[in-house]
Amino acid sequence: MTSVNPERAARIAALPFDFAAQPKAPVRACNLCGGDRFVVITHRDRYGYPAPACACADCGLVFLNPVMTPEAYGQFYNGSYRPLVSAYHGRLIDAKSIQGEQLDYARERAEFLAPYVEGAGFTSLLDIGGSTGVVAHHLSQTFGLNATVIDPAPLEVDEAKALGLETITALVEEYEPDGRRFDVVGLFQTVDHLLDIERTLNVIRALIYPLGLLFVDIVDFRAAYLRNGSVEEAVKIDHPYYLTEDTMIAYLRRAGFEPLRADYAADHLHISYVCRPVQTRSDLLPSRDGVRALLNEIRYVQNVRRSV
Ligand SMILES: [Zn+2]
Repeated sequence: MTSVNPERAARIAALPFDFAAQPKAPVRACNLCGGDRFVVITHRDRYGYPAPACACADCGLVFLNPVMTPEAYGQFYNGSYRPLVSAYHGRLIDAKSIQGEQLDYARERAEFLAPYVEGAGFTSLLDIGGSTGVVAHHLSQTFGLNATVIDPAPLEVDEAKALGLETITALVEEYEPDGRRFDVVGLFQTVDHLLDIERTLNVIRALIYPLGLLFVDIVDFRAAYLRNGSVEEAVKIDHPYYLTEDTMIAYLRRAGFEPLRADYAADHLHISYVCRPVQTRSDLLPSRDGVRALLNEIRYVQNVRRSV
């Protein structure tokens, strides 16, 4: 059971954001495998919102279903997202306050990327979901790259612009690259927020140079529910998707990316991948045994009794 924190619930209830009233659409086909055999695994998210999550019985992808429409997510990121996260944590989290931890994050990611970027002759970086631009700015300074940030949140893009970065205010799913290409593409703490991962990875595959690099990191869904002892606490409306090592690697290989190195972050929650473009493996999916093991583990976490 999810333990209810009444002060947190009151803070969230006091927000003007009304999740139940948001327009939503049902997910008819799994974004990873195209299947339609789903298992409803939760009925509420960590905020207490009625936001059910499903697992695909064929590939193990976990996702919100129904999910807010792109327009509703666009509005959510334009003023509701950071106040909601602030209410959840009980402290102010906004475009300015996140910059310190973003810089620590950027330094760690630069170290991870350095063996693949230094000396490679790269000149351009596209940071998808780049928020306030702190990460893109640090990487551009460290590696001498011209950085471009795409993000749907206008207040965050303003911060990126102030750092002198090229900015595009949009959801990446709406981005038209018009033949433009990049050496390094980053999805820094972003893939779980996407509305269509398959489409986004295909867009990236088309706009990355053949010898370029893709960085992506996930909130490992298994780590998130194991650490909380709660599947509901690992689900939140800000993340349409909940990835595992198996589903992220399947996504990458199907889109034509080979992970060169993975990194279990020091927080024991995130996993980073640096990848290079290769032939697509459009048939590749997580094994049935892996999917069964995931569902069994979810049932175990939902029912194991903990001392209180
Ligand atoms: Zn599937």
